[in-house]
Amino acid sequence: MSQTARNSRIYLSPPDLGGREKELMLAAFDSNWITTMGPQVELFEREMCLKVGVANAVALSSGTAGLHLALVILGVGPGDEVMCADLTFAASVNAVKYCGAHPVLIDADPATWNLDPGLLEDELRRRASAGNSMPRAIMAVDLYGQCADYDAILAIAERYGVPVVEDAAEALGAEMRGRRAGAFGAMGVLSFNGNKIITTSGGGMLVSNEASFVARARHLATQAREPVVHYQHSEVGYNYRLSNILAGIGRGQLERLEEKVDKKREVNRYYREALGGLPGIGFMPEAAYGKSNCWLTVILIEPDAFGMDREGVRLALERENIESRPVWKPMHLQPAFRDCRFLGGGVGEGFFERGLCLPSGTQLETSDLERIVGIIAGACRARS
Ligand SMILES: *Cc1c(COP(=O)(O)O)cnc(C)c1O
Repeated sequence: MSQTARNSRIYLSPPDLGGREKELMLAAFDSNWITTMGPQVELFEREMCLKVGVANAVALSSGTAGLHLALVILGVGPGDEVMCADLTFAASVNAVKYCGAHPVLIDADPATWNLDPGLLEDELRRRASAGNSMPRAIMAVDLYGQCADYDAILAIAERYGVPVVEDAAEALGAEMRGRRAGAFGAMGVLSFNGNKIITTSGGGMLVSNEASFVARARHLATQAREPVVHYQHSEVGYNYRLSNILAGIGRGQLERLEEKVDKKREVNRYYREALGGLPGIGFMPEAAYGKSNCWLTVILIEPDAFGMDREGVRLALERENIESRPVWKPMHLQPAFRDCRFLGGGVGEGFFERGLCLPSGTQLETSDLERIVGIIAGACRARS
Protein backbone atom coordinates (compact mmCIF):
# COMPACT_ATOMS: atom_id res chain seq x y z
CA MET A 1 0.00 0.00 0.00
CA SER A 2 3.04 2.29 0.17
CA GLN A 3 3.02 5.24 -2.19
CA THR A 4 6.78 5.65 -1.98
CA ALA A 5 7.79 4.43 -5.43
CA ARG A 6 9.27 7.51 -7.02
CA ASN A 7 6.70 7.95 -9.71
CA SER A 8 3.60 6.20 -8.37
CA ARG A 9 0.58 8.48 -8.15
CA ILE A 10 -0.11 10.17 -4.85
CA TYR A 11 -3.83 10.71 -4.34
CA LEU A 12 -5.58 13.41 -2.36
CA SER A 13 -7.23 11.20 0.26
CA PRO A 14 -7.47 7.56 -0.85
CA PRO A 15 -9.20 4.81 1.13
CA ASP A 16 -7.07 3.17 3.83
CA LEU A 17 -8.31 -0.36 4.46
CA GLY A 18 -5.84 -1.84 6.86
CA GLY A 19 -7.85 -3.34 9.69
CA ARG A 20 -10.69 -5.81 10.17
CA GLU A 21 -12.79 -4.45 7.27
CA LYS A 22 -12.60 -7.64 5.19
CA GLU A 23 -13.25 -9.91 8.16
CA LEU A 24 -16.36 -7.94 9.22
CA MET A 25 -17.62 -7.64 5.66
CA LEU A 26 -17.29 -11.41 5.24
CA ALA A 27 -19.12 -11.90 8.54
CA ALA A 28 -22.09 -10.13 6.94
CA PHE A 29 -21.68 -12.28 3.86
CA ASP A 30 -21.48 -15.54 5.78
CA SER A 31 -24.48 -14.67 7.94
CA ASN A 32 -26.53 -14.21 4.72
CA TRP A 33 -27.56 -10.76 6.00
CA ILE A 34 -26.46 -8.88 2.92
CA THR A 35 -29.27 -6.38 2.60
CA THR A 36 -30.06 -3.21 4.51
CA MET A 37 -30.82 -4.90 7.79
CA GLY A 38 -28.65 -7.06 9.94
CA PRO A 39 -26.24 -7.21 12.82
CA GLN A 40 -23.39 -5.22 11.17
CA VAL A 41 -25.69 -2.24 10.56
CA GLU A 42 -26.94 -2.28 14.14
CA LEU A 43 -23.42 -2.59 15.56
CA PHE A 44 -22.07 0.12 13.24
CA GLU A 45 -24.81 2.49 14.41
CA ARG A 46 -24.19 1.71 18.08
CA GLU A 47 -20.41 2.05 17.77
CA MET A 48 -20.82 5.36 15.95
CA CYS A 49 -23.02 6.69 18.78
CA LEU A 50 -20.19 5.96 21.21
CA LYS A 51 -17.57 7.62 19.00
CA VAL A 52 -19.60 10.78 18.35
CA GLY A 53 -21.18 10.94 21.81
CA VAL A 54 -24.80 10.90 20.68
CA ALA A 55 -27.68 8.69 21.67
CA ASN A 56 -29.09 7.62 18.29
CA ALA A 57 -27.88 6.91 14.76
CA VAL A 58 -29.19 5.50 11.49
CA ALA A 59 -26.84 4.21 8.78
CA LEU A 60 -27.69 5.48 5.29
CA SER A 61 -26.65 5.03 1.66
CA SER A 62 -24.84 8.39 1.59
CA GLY A 63 -24.19 11.58 3.49
CA THR A 64 -26.31 13.44 0.97
CA ALA A 65 -29.25 11.17 1.83
CA GLY A 66 -28.73 12.10 5.48
CA LEU A 67 -28.78 15.84 4.74
CA HIS A 68 -31.95 15.41 2.70
CA LEU A 69 -33.69 13.45 5.46
CA ALA A 70 -32.61 15.92 8.16
CA LEU A 71 -34.26 18.76 6.24
CA VAL A 72 -37.40 16.72 5.52
CA ILE A 73 -37.68 15.89 9.23
CA LEU A 74 -37.40 19.58 10.14
CA GLY A 75 -40.34 20.22 7.82
CA VAL A 76 -38.38 22.03 5.11
CA GLY A 77 -40.57 22.20 2.02
CA PRO A 78 -41.27 24.13 -1.16
CA GLY A 79 -40.76 27.88 -0.77
CA ASP A 80 -38.97 27.66 2.60
CA GLU A 81 -35.55 29.21 3.08
CA VAL A 82 -32.49 27.48 4.55
CA MET A 83 -29.40 29.44 5.59
CA CYS A 84 -26.46 27.49 4.25
CA ALA A 85 -22.67 27.70 4.28
CA ASP A 86 -21.52 29.00 0.88
CA LEU A 87 -18.04 27.47 0.98
CA THR A 88 -18.83 23.76 0.86
CA PHE A 89 -19.28 20.76 -1.37
CA ALA A 90 -22.44 20.97 -3.47
CA ALA A 91 -24.21 18.17 -1.56
CA SER A 92 -25.05 20.53 1.34
CA VAL A 93 -26.96 22.86 -0.96
CA ASN A 94 -28.35 20.15 -3.23
CA ALA A 95 -30.19 18.71 -0.23
CA VAL A 96 -31.96 22.05 0.26
CA LYS A 97 -32.95 22.04 -3.41
CA TYR A 98 -34.31 18.47 -3.15
CA CYS A 99 -36.87 19.88 -0.70
CA GLY A 100 -37.91 22.58 -3.15
CA ALA A 101 -36.55 25.13 -0.68
CA HIS A 102 -34.37 28.19 -1.33
CA PRO A 103 -30.80 28.15 0.00
CA VAL A 104 -29.56 31.49 1.35
CA LEU A 105 -25.79 31.24 1.03
CA ILE A 106 -23.61 32.71 3.77
CA ASP A 107 -19.96 33.60 3.22
CA ALA A 108 -17.12 32.04 5.21
CA ASP A 109 -15.60 33.45 8.40
CA PRO A 110 -11.90 34.16 7.74
CA ALA A 111 -11.01 32.76 11.20
CA THR A 112 -12.55 29.31 10.65
CA TRP A 113 -13.47 29.14 6.93
CA ASN A 114 -16.94 28.07 8.09
CA LEU A 115 -20.30 29.81 8.04
CA ASP A 116 -19.78 33.36 9.36
CA PRO A 117 -21.89 33.70 12.54
CA GLY A 118 -21.85 37.50 12.26
CA LEU A 119 -23.52 37.44 8.84
CA LEU A 120 -26.05 34.90 10.09
CA GLU A 121 -26.91 37.02 13.10
CA ASP A 122 -27.23 40.24 11.05
CA GLU A 123 -29.65 38.54 8.67
CA LEU A 124 -31.84 36.98 11.38
CA ARG A 125 -31.88 40.23 13.38
CA ARG A 126 -32.93 42.17 10.28
CA ARG A 127 -35.73 39.71 9.61
CA ALA A 128 -36.93 39.80 13.20
CA SER A 129 -37.05 43.59 13.36
CA ALA A 130 -38.81 43.84 9.99
CA GLY A 131 -41.31 41.20 11.08
CA ASN A 132 -40.24 38.95 8.20
CA SER A 133 -40.39 35.16 8.35
CA MET A 134 -37.45 33.17 9.67
CA PRO A 135 -35.65 30.50 7.64
CA ARG A 136 -36.81 26.92 8.29
CA ALA A 137 -33.30 25.70 9.12
CA ILE A 138 -29.59 26.47 9.19
CA MET A 139 -27.18 24.15 7.40
CA ALA A 140 -23.74 24.51 9.01
CA VAL A 141 -20.76 22.67 7.52
CA ASP A 142 -17.55 21.51 9.24
CA LEU A 143 -15.17 22.34 6.41
CA TYR A 144 -12.13 20.16 5.78
CA GLY A 145 -12.55 18.60 9.21
CA GLN A 146 -12.88 21.75 11.33
CA CYS A 147 -16.06 22.27 13.34
CA ALA A 148 -17.96 25.47 12.63
CA ASP A 149 -18.23 27.96 15.51
CA TYR A 150 -21.16 26.29 17.30
CA ASP A 151 -20.81 28.46 20.42
CA ALA A 152 -21.95 31.36 18.26
CA ILE A 153 -24.14 29.56 15.72
CA LEU A 154 -26.21 27.59 18.25
CA ALA A 155 -26.74 30.67 20.42
CA ILE A 156 -28.04 32.66 17.44
CA ALA A 157 -30.16 29.73 16.24
CA GLU A 158 -31.71 29.34 19.67
CA ARG A 159 -32.41 33.07 20.03
CA TYR A 160 -34.40 33.09 16.78
CA GLY A 161 -35.83 29.57 17.09
CA VAL A 162 -34.24 28.13 13.96
CA PRO A 163 -32.99 24.50 14.06
CA VAL A 164 -29.45 23.63 12.93
CA VAL A 165 -28.35 20.70 10.77
CA GLU A 166 -24.65 19.91 11.07
CA ASP A 167 -23.05 18.70 7.85
CA ALA A 168 -20.15 16.86 9.48
CA ALA A 169 -19.41 14.82 6.34
CA GLU A 170 -15.76 15.89 6.39
CA ALA A 171 -15.27 16.05 10.14
CA LEU A 172 -15.75 12.64 11.80
CA GLY A 173 -13.35 12.53 14.75
CA ALA A 174 -12.97 16.31 15.02
CA GLU A 175 -13.74 18.01 18.32
CA MET A 176 -14.99 21.32 19.60
CA ARG A 177 -14.79 22.13 23.31
CA GLY A 178 -14.55 18.42 24.01
CA ARG A 179 -17.62 17.49 21.98
CA ARG A 180 -17.35 15.55 18.76
CA ALA A 181 -18.34 16.68 15.26
CA GLY A 182 -21.85 15.47 14.45
CA ALA A 183 -23.12 16.09 17.99
CA PHE A 184 -24.05 19.75 17.41
CA GLY A 185 -27.42 20.98 16.29
CA ALA A 186 -30.69 19.08 15.97
CA MET A 187 -29.12 16.44 13.74
CA GLY A 188 -25.64 15.70 12.46
CA VAL A 189 -24.72 13.97 9.20
CA LEU A 190 -21.60 11.93 8.45
CA SER A 191 -20.29 10.62 5.13
CA PHE A 192 -18.36 7.44 4.35
CA ASN A 193 -17.69 8.29 0.73
CA GLY A 194 -14.44 6.92 -0.74
CA ASN A 195 -12.24 9.91 0.08
CA LYS A 196 -13.55 10.69 3.58
CA ILE A 197 -11.61 9.88 6.76
CA ILE A 198 -13.42 6.54 6.99
CA THR A 199 -15.19 4.90 4.08
CA THR A 200 -17.70 2.16 3.35
CA SER A 201 -17.12 2.73 -0.40
CA GLY A 202 -20.24 4.88 -0.18
CA GLY A 203 -22.47 5.54 2.78
CA GLY A 204 -23.47 7.95 5.50
CA MET A 205 -25.13 8.29 8.86
CA LEU A 206 -27.60 10.60 10.53
CA VAL A 207 -27.01 11.07 14.25
CA SER A 208 -28.97 12.89 16.94
CA ASN A 209 -29.65 12.97 20.64
CA GLU A 210 -33.33 13.27 19.77
CA ALA A 211 -34.63 9.70 19.40
CA SER A 212 -37.73 10.71 17.46
CA PHE A 213 -35.64 12.35 14.69
CA VAL A 214 -33.60 9.20 14.16
CA ALA A 215 -36.66 6.93 14.31
CA ARG A 216 -38.30 9.11 11.69
CA ALA A 217 -35.18 9.09 9.50
CA ARG A 218 -35.10 5.29 9.72
CA HIS A 219 -38.74 5.13 8.67
CA LEU A 220 -38.38 7.57 5.76
CA ALA A 221 -35.17 5.84 4.59
CA THR A 222 -37.01 2.51 4.43
CA GLN A 223 -39.61 3.69 1.86
CA ALA A 224 -41.79 4.89 4.77
CA ARG A 225 -43.04 1.33 5.04
CA GLU A 226 -45.24 0.80 8.04
CA PRO A 227 -44.86 -2.33 10.13
CA VAL A 228 -47.82 -4.24 8.74
CA VAL A 229 -47.72 -7.25 6.43
CA HIS A 230 -49.45 -5.61 3.49
CA TYR A 231 -46.89 -2.80 3.04
CA GLN A 232 -48.85 0.24 4.16
CA HIS A 233 -47.47 3.70 3.25
CA SER A 234 -48.97 6.88 4.70
CA GLU A 235 -46.32 9.19 3.23
CA VAL A 236 -43.67 9.31 0.54
CA GLY A 237 -40.47 7.53 1.54
CA TYR A 238 -36.97 6.98 0.22
CA ASN A 239 -34.65 4.03 -0.37
CA TYR A 240 -31.73 5.36 1.66
CA ARG A 241 -30.53 2.52 3.94
CA LEU A 242 -26.96 1.19 4.10
CA SER A 243 -26.27 -2.44 3.24
CA ASN A 244 -25.15 -4.79 6.02
CA ILE A 245 -22.07 -5.70 3.96
CA LEU A 246 -20.94 -2.09 3.80
CA ALA A 247 -21.64 -1.62 7.50
CA GLY A 248 -19.10 -4.40 8.12
CA ILE A 249 -16.47 -2.38 6.23
CA GLY A 250 -17.48 0.71 8.19
CA ARG A 251 -17.03 -1.02 11.55
CA GLY A 252 -13.51 -2.10 10.55
CA GLN A 253 -12.76 1.49 9.53
CA LEU A 254 -14.25 3.02 12.66
CA GLU A 255 -12.05 0.88 14.91
CA ARG A 256 -9.07 2.83 13.59
CA LEU A 257 -10.58 6.32 13.58
CA GLU A 258 -8.31 7.76 16.30
CA GLU A 259 -5.25 6.43 14.51
CA LYS A 260 -6.42 8.07 11.28
CA VAL A 261 -7.06 11.42 12.97
CA ASP A 262 -3.59 11.28 14.53
CA LYS A 263 -2.04 10.47 11.17
CA LYS A 264 -3.88 13.27 9.34
CA ARG A 265 -2.86 15.76 12.03
CA GLU A 266 0.73 14.56 11.71
CA VAL A 267 0.61 15.13 7.94
CA ASN A 268 -0.76 18.63 8.60
CA ARG A 269 2.06 19.33 11.05
CA TYR A 270 4.64 18.14 8.54
CA TYR A 271 3.34 20.50 5.86
CA ARG A 272 3.23 23.41 8.30
CA GLU A 273 6.81 22.88 9.33
CA ALA A 274 8.13 22.24 5.84
CA LEU A 275 6.19 24.93 3.96
CA GLY A 276 5.28 27.52 6.60
CA GLY A 277 8.54 29.44 6.11
CA LEU A 278 8.13 29.91 2.35
CA PRO A 279 7.13 33.40 1.21
CA GLY A 280 3.46 33.69 0.30
CA ILE A 281 2.37 30.38 1.86
CA GLY A 282 -0.37 30.30 4.51
CA PHE A 283 -2.56 27.59 5.99
CA MET A 284 -6.22 27.15 6.81
CA PRO A 285 -6.24 28.21 10.48
CA GLU A 286 -7.16 25.80 13.26
CA ALA A 287 -9.63 27.53 15.59
CA ALA A 288 -8.61 27.61 19.25
CA TYR A 289 -11.99 26.15 20.27
CA GLY A 290 -11.38 22.73 18.82
CA LYS A 291 -9.31 20.03 17.22
CA SER A 292 -9.65 19.46 13.49
CA ASN A 293 -9.44 15.95 12.08
CA CYS A 294 -7.32 17.57 9.32
CA TRP A 295 -9.24 15.61 6.69
CA LEU A 296 -7.44 17.69 4.06
CA THR A 297 -4.55 20.06 4.65
CA VAL A 298 -5.17 23.31 2.78
CA ILE A 299 -2.53 25.91 1.89
CA LEU A 300 -3.11 29.46 0.66
CA ILE A 301 -0.76 30.73 -2.01
CA GLU A 302 -0.23 34.48 -2.48
CA PRO A 303 1.01 34.54 -6.07
CA ASP A 304 3.01 37.78 -5.82
CA ALA A 305 4.99 36.70 -2.79
CA PHE A 306 5.29 33.04 -3.75
CA GLY A 307 6.10 33.61 -7.42
CA MET A 308 3.44 31.26 -8.77
CA ASP A 309 -0.32 31.05 -8.41
CA ARG A 310 -2.42 28.19 -7.02
CA GLU A 311 -3.07 26.73 -10.47
CA GLY A 312 0.62 26.83 -11.32
CA VAL A 313 1.44 24.85 -8.19
CA ARG A 314 -1.39 22.40 -8.83
CA LEU A 315 -0.09 21.74 -12.35
CA ALA A 316 3.51 21.39 -11.11
CA LEU A 317 2.30 18.67 -8.71
CA GLU A 318 0.17 17.04 -11.39
CA ARG A 319 3.17 16.84 -13.74
CA GLU A 320 4.85 14.77 -11.04
CA ASN A 321 1.80 12.51 -10.73
CA ILE A 322 0.56 14.09 -7.49
CA GLU A 323 -3.11 14.90 -7.04
CA SER A 324 -4.07 18.17 -5.36
CA ARG A 325 -7.31 20.14 -5.63
CA PRO A 326 -8.49 23.74 -5.45
CA VAL A 327 -10.58 24.68 -2.41
CA TRP A 328 -14.31 24.11 -3.04
CA LYS A 329 -15.67 26.64 -5.51
CA PRO A 330 -18.19 28.67 -3.49
CA MET A 331 -21.80 27.77 -4.18
CA HIS A 332 -22.79 31.34 -5.12
CA LEU A 333 -20.39 31.07 -8.08
CA GLN A 334 -21.89 27.79 -9.30
CA PRO A 335 -24.30 27.99 -12.25
CA ALA A 336 -26.66 25.53 -10.50
CA PHE A 337 -27.14 27.98 -7.61
CA ARG A 338 -27.03 31.25 -9.51
CA ASP A 339 -30.56 32.07 -8.36
CA CYS A 340 -29.69 31.84 -4.64
CA ARG A 341 -29.33 34.85 -2.38
CA PHE A 342 -25.77 35.31 -1.16
CA LEU A 343 -24.81 37.17 2.01
CA GLY A 344 -21.24 38.34 2.37
CA GLY A 345 -18.29 39.43 0.32
CA GLY A 346 -15.26 37.79 -1.18
CA VAL A 347 -13.95 35.67 1.69
CA GLY A 348 -14.78 32.22 0.35
CA GLU A 349 -13.99 33.33 -3.18
CA GLY A 350 -10.51 34.38 -2.05
CA PHE A 351 -9.94 30.95 -0.48
CA PHE A 352 -11.08 29.32 -3.72
CA GLU A 353 -8.71 31.44 -5.81
CA ARG A 354 -5.67 30.96 -3.57
CA GLY A 355 -6.36 27.71 -1.72
CA LEU A 356 -4.99 24.28 -2.61
CA CYS A 357 -5.81 20.99 -0.87
CA LEU A 358 -2.67 18.88 -0.56
CA PRO A 359 -2.48 15.08 -0.46
CA SER A 360 -3.61 14.10 3.03
CA GLY A 361 -3.96 10.33 2.95
CA THR A 362 -3.42 8.31 6.12
CA GLN A 363 -0.90 6.07 4.36
CA LEU A 364 1.46 8.84 3.26
CA GLU A 365 5.07 8.11 4.15
CA THR A 366 7.80 10.59 4.91
CA SER A 367 9.30 10.00 1.47
CA ASP A 368 5.93 10.88 -0.15
CA LEU A 369 5.70 14.07 1.90
CA GLU A 370 9.29 14.99 0.99
CA ARG A 371 8.44 14.52 -2.68
CA ILE A 372 5.38 16.80 -2.42
CA VAL A 373 7.11 19.48 -0.37
CA GLY A 374 10.14 19.40 -2.66
CA ILE A 375 8.00 20.23 -5.69
CA ILE A 376 6.23 23.10 -3.93
CA ALA A 377 9.49 24.55 -2.60
CA GLY A 378 11.00 24.18 -6.09
CA ALA A 379 8.03 26.06 -7.59
CA CYS A 380 8.76 28.91 -5.22
CA ARG A 381 12.45 29.07 -6.03
CA ALA A 382 11.84 28.69 -9.74
CA ARG A 383 10.41 32.19 -9.91
CA SER A 384 12.75 34.05 -7.64
C1 LIG B 1 -18.75 14.39 1.03
C2 LIG B 1 -19.62 15.48 1.47
C3 LIG B 1 -21.02 15.34 1.49
C4 LIG B 1 -21.75 14.21 0.85
O1 LIG B 1 -21.48 12.97 1.28
P1 LIG B 1 -21.82 11.71 0.35
O2 LIG B 1 -21.68 10.58 1.30
O3 LIG B 1 -20.76 11.69 -0.73
O4 LIG B 1 -23.18 11.86 -0.18
C5 LIG B 1 -21.77 16.37 2.02
N1 LIG B 1 -21.21 17.49 2.48
C6 LIG B 1 -19.89 17.69 2.45
C7 LIG B 1 -19.34 18.96 2.99
C8 LIG B 1 -19.04 16.70 1.93
O5 LIG B 1 -17.72 16.90 1.86
